[in-house]
Amino acid sequence: MPHAFLYTANPARVVFGLGSQARIADEVRQLGRTRVLVLSTPSRREDAERLNLQLGELGAGVFSEAAMHTPVKVTEQAMTAFDKAGADCIVALGGGSTIGLGKAIAYRNDAPQVVVATTYAGSEVTPILGQTENGRKTTVKDPSILPEVVIYDPELTVGLPVAVSVTSGLNALAHAVEGLYAKDRNPISSLMAMEGIRSLKQALPAIVEQPQSLQARSDALYGAWLCGTVLGSVGMALHHKLCHTLGGSFDLPHANTHAILLPHTAAYNARSAEEALAPAAALFGGELGGGLYDFAASLGAPLALKALGLSESDLDSVADQAVQNPYWNPRPVEREAIRELLQRAWNGTRPE
Ligand code: NAD
Repeated sequence: MPHAFLYTANPARVVFGLGSQARIADEVRQLGRTRVLVLSTPSRREDAERLNLQLGELGAGVFSEAAMHTPVKVTEQAMTAFDKAGADCIVALGGGSTIGLGKAIAYRNDAPQVVVATTYAGSEVTPILGQTENGRKTTVKDPSILPEVVIYDPELTVGLPVAVSVTSGLNALAHAVEGLYAKDRNPISSLMAMEGIRSLKQALPAIVEQPQSLQARSDALYGAWLCGTVLGSVGMALHHKLCHTLGGSFDLPHANTHAILLPHTAAYNARSAEEALAPAAALFGGELGGGLYDFAASLGAPLALKALGLSESDLDSVADQAVQNPYWNPRPVEREAIRELLQRAWNGTRPE
């Protein structure tokens, strides 16, 4: 019998499956909205324009300046575009950067969001928004931030480059691994975490082998949804804190940073969270940190922070920031041990 627990579900409508992109207009109408601003990153502008046309009279325009870590300056431009277009609804087409922009708008004007998720980052199912201003990343959590509708159509992800698919998938795994040992974990979040890990463990090698495989793409999106849901419902710890620091203060790319750090943070917490991590460890050869490292290496993922342009002299500052503002982690966050962890991740050495 489980121990006493608290379980809070984030209310959202999820439309999953091949061809579900055809439902976007219906979902907007069901929300009672009539004018959509379509959001994307600059590189996905053409797709966003096409979607805006497909939406017919619902399409009010495109704003394609979404950027990683949600700069407040870009959000302000998007708010102006939203008002100018007379929009009353957001459709975010893309990954966490585009979704982050949609959330930032909704946080300010409470516009409903239909998200068409095309990476595995999981932001679409969380009420969390990270924004950057003056080189600092801050996080807010609010019900207005949670997207109302999420559409997962595997067909829209076959063009996601293999390298991005791999790092994004490892980013999703990181949510689930931290979810397994979260202080406020519950039987449902742990079920979702394990199902998400299993699904991605199967999907990512299949995507590397055959990027066009709709089965593999579907499995990966399913896993990403589950892992994202875990991120949105329980508290994260050391791993997310370190990635947050590296992304916000050193502008490192989000998914790559997660991919590189995950084996090391899993190894750091392995002993202190042995029981909670046991089912995941069993999937990765019995030892989670090393197993995740080997898995990432087999997928061709980046393994060393130095390859992302972080200088070795910054590691002390990252370690200092990691121990500031104490937060819960299964193993105490000790500066020297964190500095060692960071050195290994910087070098790209397999965790012990
Ligand atoms: P991203 O959204 O920046 O996408 C990576 C690149 O892939 C972009 O250039 C994008 O245009 C491109 N791309 C996306 N989908 C594509 C497709 N189907 N085909 C081809 N190219 C495609 O990356 P991400 O890792 O998804 O998101 C990172 C951001 O999300 C960070 O800012 C991070 O902080 C945030 N995030 C937030 C949460 C949350 O809960 N608040 C969770 C996860 C990530």
